[in-house]
Amino acid sequence: NSGLLRDKRIMITGASSGIGAAAARLFAAEGASVILMARREKLLYDLVEEIRADAGRAVAVIGDVTSPADVEQVVSVAVERFGGLDAAFNNAGWGSRGTDLHETEDSVYDQIMDVNVRGVWNCLRHQIPLMLDQRTGGTIVNTSSTAGLFATGALAPYVAAKHAVLGLTKAAAAEYGSRGIRVNALVVGSTRTELTEGSVRSGTKRPVAARAIQHRMADPLEIAEAAAWLCSDRSSFVTGGAVPVDGGCS
Ligand code: NDP
Repeated sequence: NSGLLRDKRIMITGASSGIGAAAARLFAAEGASVILMARREKLLYDLVEEIRADAGRAVAVIGDVTSPADVEQVVSVAVERFGGLDAAFNNAGWGSRGTDLHETEDSVYDQIMDVNVRGVWNCLRHQIPLMLDQRTGGTIVNTSSTAGLFATGALAPYVAAKHAVLGLTKAAAAEYGSRGIRVNALVVGSTRTELTEGSVRSGTKRPVAARAIQHRMADPLEIAEAAAWLCSDRSSFVTGGAVPVDGGCS
């Protein structure tokens, strides 16, 4: 590795699987100290062990991004264990391809908005005050989706939620740009993770991958690489961006 993230302290939500877990491994290998959050204890603790076994620095905080108290706890642990927070990858998210809008349960809408939008909101609310206090500023990366730019069928709450993630990203970037905080979003295309396992099996993911110029799904590491660059100083003039990592969809 190149030491791209040497001395960076980076919080990652949704680190127990998929893109977040790939980011945790990559960021630690690039020299970062990582503070990992998700709900599944065993997966998260095993990942921390694995990173430490490779001489990386990692700590796990079990929690739910929809809980402001849980998110506050992650930020506190970053301060207690590593003395602060230089970057954050707000990546936890969930969506289910299911029913037409008029047949979607209100509870499904609530759950999808809670995890994807409220989750990012909770992160911003607790990360930004710390980054302002630190004077060294910081860098935040939120995980949106191609569904944050255009709609595909039977995904209305997820489409709305990922559009909102781009909105929060742009708003925060505009507000804090002159105060040393950069905020960007990844427009993630179809990626092989637990999220897409079901639809890959049933064949419903194929049309999405087919839309990509590269005609394939991403490996989670390909998304993590873009997140690493956005968390690093190499992207110092990039903020408010909706950065496509989608094999050419948007
Ligand atoms: P995974 O299901 O593998 O990962 C999702 C992660 O989010 C898990 O670590 C999960 O951990 C965590 N998570 C979910 N809900 C919560 C919660 N309430 N609190 C804390 N953590 C939570 O899927 P991906 O890696 O694919 O998803 C990562 C992000 O990428 C999501 O925001 C997703 O919307 C986005 N994305 C994915 C695409 C794809 O094709 N895979 C395409 C576009 C965007 P746990 O269950 O342990 O809490």
